[in-house]
Amino acid sequence: MGRIRILSDQVANKIAAGEVVERPASVVKELLENSLDAGSTTIRVEAVSGGRRLIRITDDGCGMLRDDAMLAFERHSTSKLTDVKDLLSIATLGFRGEALPSIASVSRLTLETRSRDESTGTRIEIAGGKMMACQEAALASGTIITVRDLFFNVPARKKFLRSETTELAHIATLATEYSLAHPDRNFTLIHDEKELLAVTPAADLRDRIYQVFGGQLLEELIPLAPVERALPPEPGSDSPAGTLQLTGFVSRPQFQKSNRNSIHLFVNGRVIRDRLLLHALNSAYYNLVPSGVYPFAMLFLSCDYEEVDVNVHPSKTEVRFRHGPVVHDFVRDAVRNSLIAAKPAPSLPSSRVSQPAAHLPYSEFSQQIEEQRFESVPAPAPDSELPVFNLHGATPPAPRLDFGQTPGIPGEPVRFSAPPPAPPPASPQLKLRVPESHSALPPDAGYVPGTSLSELANLRPLGQIHDSFIVAAGRDGLWLIDQHVAHERILFEKVLRGRAEGKIEVQALLMPMIIELTPAQMADYNRIAAELNATGFETEPFGPRSIAIKAAPSAVPPGEIDKLVFEILEIADAELRGVSLEDLRRGIAASVACRAAIKINTPLDERKMAWLLEELAATQCPMSCPHGRPIALLYSTRDILKGFHRV
Ligand code: ADP
Ligand code: MG
Repeated sequence: MGRIRILSDQVANKIAAGEVVERPASVVKELLENSLDAGSTTIRVEAVSGGRRLIRITDDGCGMLRDDAMLAFERHSTSKLTDVKDLLSIATLGFRGEALPSIASVSRLTLETRSRDESTGTRIEIAGGKMMACQEAALASGTIITVRDLFFNVPARKKFLRSETTELAHIATLATEYSLAHPDRNFTLIHDEKELLAVTPAADLRDRIYQVFGGQLLEELIPLAPVERALPPEPGSDSPAGTLQLTGFVSRPQFQKSNRNSIHLFVNGRVIRDRLLLHALNSAYYNLVPSGVYPFAMLFLSCDYEEVDVNVHPSKTEVRFRHGPVVHDFVRDAVRNSLIAAKPAPSLPSSRVSQPAAHLPYSEFSQQIEEQRFESVPAPAPDSELPVFNLHGATPPAPRLDFGQTPGIPGEPVRFSAPPPAPPPASPQLKLRVPESHSALPPDAGYVPGTSLSELANLRPLGQIHDSFIVAAGRDGLWLIDQHVAHERILFEKVLRGRAEGKIEVQALLMPMIIELTPAQMADYNRIAAELNATGFETEPFGPRSIAIKAAPSAVPPGEIDKLVFEILEIADAELRGVSLEDLRRGIAASVACRAAIKINTPLDERKMAWLLEELAATQCPMSCPHGRPIALLYSTRDILKGFHRV
């Protein structure tokens, strides 16, 4: 007798469950997607003990006919696909017909459902994949699925579940994300009988964000200008293959998160995790935020269904784009251009702290999840022509400005650092309750589209603090500008422009400067010499272990040239381990800019200050210095009025 056998459905389902049902949140995801596919307008999610004891989803969707309800638990039974061609353009969230049988095989599941076309409903009970009962029942139209004791028959799986709060955090993230993807529906999330999320239909995404996260977050966000791009035509055809569209919100650069949990990605209304889009987003913020920090983002990408393969992973959270590199660049440019157009002004940190941190519930969740959400996302397919990840890897640490001899503070170094991230939540208790007052966005809800840094051109400089920070008056309030980083940004963009156009002002040295290198530095030098010489340097090997510098960009003070070259070699050492030429170029430009920029503790007259502000206003990204620190802080009129208790 042969040794190969075909597994029973029961075993096959349990195996499939291993892929589909990783944790309670996977159950919630599958059931939520089914409810949305069923056209529900009101969806209620209940969980007990982080979803380990119970998960129940109640919807008012189309419900199932008696026969369909029985069939739904057969493997590969679905109402959403009929033949293989349908797989190429999937419009529904589900399509594999695997979720219900998989979930039923690792839990005790009850289905209660009634189709609008039948007068009575059906109640089915299944335990560990075995049908226990099936009877007629008097039910409202719609579907209720209750999943108890998840993994009761798979102890190995059960052991891998994390703490109740972590599992709940995953569930809450999912419910929140789907509520954002569908602002027109009612969503409720209840955990251990406490309501964590309750949102009613909102006019648009902005209103929904307000409902879920509160007005304070909204103030940090920039709406993406709606953009569209045609995809390249198919070979042999002239007409474009379709279009890409992107909408959503991203945070201004000063709103910084230490992990990627505040990045919400959607493709055709589906919640996904995708490295390609993450990378595109990071690239958009390149040189605008320090390394290792992440923005808040909510990106909704739409494209023709044929453009994206959602059948890549059993849990359908990963996708593959047919034109990956095009999608990547489209998203990067769309986000970057919106940031450049808005040039959002950072507010003085203190003015934020004084506000009650009432609406940061979401961050409480994301803290629980830490990095887990994106942990397991694989790198994009090797055929996508992407630069290597870790763009920020080699960004030099932000230089510490310290005032050695600050008058009045003898010997006390004053450190200046980026505004602190949002204050940590006061208690670890989870809550996502939407206060009554937040259920709708009042007309003057404090959503100010933010002051643009283009205003810098219209400021009146008043003087300097510590000969380091320019104080200026403007229409929108009082501004503080860090003169060193402001000049750094101006020069950074100038060097990059000059490099691109082959026009960098160069100073020839009277005597070539000879510097000695270690063998490793010499190797680095040989790799980057061409790029160095294209950025306004004239250097050549001078013996086996030294190089001669004959010229340098004219902005760099002669006394700093050798230090600058060593610094660039250091960047090269770190960056060449896997970062693109483009990044090396930016790294060199950032170093040149930093060396050449006006130092702190430098008195400036009014004319120079005005010049600096005008030049800064004319840059593309006056928001941050090339290392990601803020350049100008605004103490807005609104905050001034608040401070004087006039509002
Ligand atoms: P898929 O969603 O991939 O089709 P599932 O196993 O998740 O597979 O569901 C099987 C079928 O059960 C669906 O195709 C749908 O017809 C039906 N179904 C599941 N959940 C619901 C629901 N909440 N309301 C109506 N029908 C549902
Ligand atoms: Mg499904």
